[in-house]
Amino acid sequence: MLDEDIQKRLEAIVGRENVETSNASLLAYSYDSTPQFQAMPDAAVAPRNTKEVAAIVKLCNEYKIPIVPRGSGTNLCAGTTPLEGGIVLLFRHMNQILEIDEENLTMTVQPGVYTQDIFRAAEEVGLFYPPDPGSMHISQIGGNISENSGGLRGLKYGVTRDYVLGLEIVLPNGEVIRTGGKLAKDVAGYDLTRLYVGAEGTLGVITSAILKLIPQPETKKTMLALYHDLEAAAETVSAIIANRIIPATLEFLDQATVKVVEDFAQIGLPLDAKAVLLIEQDGPEEVVERDMEKIEQLCRDNQAFDVSVAETLAEAEALTEARRSALSALSRLKPTTILEDATVPRSEIAKMVKAINEIAKKYDITICTFGHAGDGNLHPTCLTDVRNKDEIARIEDALEEIFMKAVELGGTITGEHGVGVMKLPYLHLKVGEAGIEAMRNIKKALDPNYIMNPGKMFAKSERERVVISK
Ligand SMILES: Cc1cc2nc3c(=O)[nH]c(=O)nc-3n(C[C@H](O)[C@H](O)[C@H](O)COP(=O)(O)OP(=O)(O)OC[C@H]3O[C@@H](n4cnc5c(N)ncnc54)[C@H](O)[C@@H]3O)c2cc1C
Repeated sequence: MLDEDIQKRLEAIVGRENVETSNASLLAYSYDSTPQFQAMPDAAVAPRNTKEVAAIVKLCNEYKIPIVPRGSGTNLCAGTTPLEGGIVLLFRHMNQILEIDEENLTMTVQPGVYTQDIFRAAEEVGLFYPPDPGSMHISQIGGNISENSGGLRGLKYGVTRDYVLGLEIVLPNGEVIRTGGKLAKDVAGYDLTRLYVGAEGTLGVITSAILKLIPQPETKKTMLALYHDLEAAAETVSAIIANRIIPATLEFLDQATVKVVEDFAQIGLPLDAKAVLLIEQDGPEEVVERDMEKIEQLCRDNQAFDVSVAETLAEAEALTEARRSALSALSRLKPTTILEDATVPRSEIAKMVKAINEIAKKYDITICTFGHAGDGNLHPTCLTDVRNKDEIARIEDALEEIFMKAVELGGTITGEHGVGVMKLPYLHLKVGEAGIEAMRNIKKALDPNYIMNPGKMFAKSERERVVISK
């Protein structure tokens, strides 16, 4: 519970109406989209501007009160679970697009703007903001930046990191800094912008961001390729890239995922295929035509039994929307959905798909797999029930084996969802103990009182990590 005096001081900063302390309202901030993690905060505070954020952070730093910045809570790594209580920081008042600069091709936004609104606002002036996480209708840019989120267009256009030119940040001591700018080039000192992209709220609070926009592609085409064999679909992914074609989108869905997505979206997806590739190319018309012809040939060479191109824009949109709905569709099947995002080099995608299926069989669990195959980023998704302790234990063992396999293939434990609490026990597999120690030192230097999103990404000390892992 928050000390009465602290509560009064918070109310003096943001106004009484912007401090929530009742259990009923705090319950909503005790969990996020990650199953199995929950902890109550002591208060939820909604500042109206950077000055108020800075005053809150200063106060919390003085009294060592944890702060958990929270966007829409759609993260899948328990990144916003207030493990150590404290304050959840909400951005519902800081949700404005501050500027679209058509000369410099930038957009300046506050952290609470929805990703979809950024995409739409850019589109309205003939520009393009490519990062499109499946959650883009509901996720906020502060969350996207802090998780370095990717999306269906990541293969050709990159991820959120590639579109963040500058940030305004409230440091854990309450000081405000501005990094980068509307600049194509900037090598003045350490690249703090990059450090804060993907920092998961552990190093400070992002209070505004300058985003890069690019010209809209002239045209696009969307294709579906169907397979009787999972690995043949995965091999096509590697073949397309090896032939030096970079599609805008190259998504993989296994049969189980296609079935539930079709049940959910009702757009006539093929139910007899063991695997489906959703492929999109955009750009000048002649390039799109040439690439799609070549891709179709590669699909057929790799045993696709059917390849079809969407005839209208509406049909193409329906296909990509259906793909974006994969997680929501799967989560209707069982009470608990555990979604992972092991990632491997593109050339290893077939091996990873095969390994996931073998691991599912070995542990006798249901894993549906879909994902951004062109990025090597797969989402093995376990459908289960958290009350089934025996199955949950087998799933945990299976997931550990999946992460180990991904790293063995030159990959990583998370391609886009972040570490949070969920992947904390596995981080050493990817970065090693020395890597964790280097990160801990950065944390200590910027946040010596451990107030910013404590307990996320890595434990305070090696001893604590061992305890958490158990
Ligand atoms: C259905 C579904 C589909 C998804 N699809 C994708 C996908 O395709 N690609 C992908 O990458 N992810 C995906 N995700 C995961 C998730 O949507 C992303 O991680 C997203 O960026 C989180 O945004 P959010 O606003 O919900 O942030 P939150 O979940 O609220 O927060 C995420 C992290 O950011 C920190 N944070 C938030 N705001 C700030 C701020 N202003 N300053 C500092 N730190 C801050 C939080 O502390 C937390 O660590 C999906 C999730 C769901 C539920």
